[in-house]
Amino acid sequence: MIGVFGGTFDPIHFGHLRPALDVHQALGLDELRFLPLNSAVHRAQPVASAAQRLAMVQAALAGEPGLRADDRELARAGPSYTVDTLHSLRQELGPRRSICLLVGGDTFNAFLDWHRPFDILALAHLVVMQRPGAAAPDDPALRAELACRGTRQLAALRQAPAGRIWIESVTQLDISATRIRGLFAAGRSPRYLLPDAVLELARREACYSAQRGHDAA
Ligand code: ATP
Repeated sequence: MIGVFGGTFDPIHFGHLRPALDVHQALGLDELRFLPLNSAVHRAQPVASAAQRLAMVQAALAGEPGLRADDRELARAGPSYTVDTLHSLRQELGPRRSICLLVGGDTFNAFLDWHRPFDILALAHLVVMQRPGAAAPDDPALRAELACRGTRQLAALRQAPAGRIWIESVTQLDISATRIRGLFAAGRSPRYLLPDAVLELARREACYSAQRGHDAA
């Protein structure tokens, strides 16, 4: 099974890394790929360049077997739609291999508003990184999907290549890239919120210097 975790990663931080490693270990994934998005669909565009964000992801994952960066979104022009990324991964991995798309709990609650959500479920399982003890989603349609697609059997994720939903309780770290960019822009240190290698790279490249940190307020 392959895990796929997309994000702007502007920059990548421990709030991404620890829950992703929790999932990697809980599901026994063969590999977990981090995909920096090229341009975001529902949010402001990233501050650091694509090359800088990719380099920061690579630095964060160095030395952790089973975690790797995948730059396919950065190579594609236009908005990053998950369904297109999954199509591309399917072409690489073939129709039988299980693909697990990792999403945050909040992101999952709005899943049915995504671009072509049922095509996404035809291409991948959803793995929801949930706050321990979090309530079920409010949306009745999503609750219905969860009722019929949800599973607690790892074998179900292995047997089918796509279409199931798995809820995994993961470590909660109240860290956001927005806050880290704000600290950089204010001339304060974001150390201990993200790997030192990422911090050094961001400093060296001046990714989030005060001039560029327009969302730092
Ligand atoms: P920003 O502050 O710029 O919006 P972010 O810190 O939320 O960024 P993203 O790259 O947008 O980071 O996040 C990618 C994915 O990681 C999303 O699915 C998001 O829900 C999840 N995520 C981000 N931060 C955390 C965190 N602290 N704990 C769990 N999941 C997280």
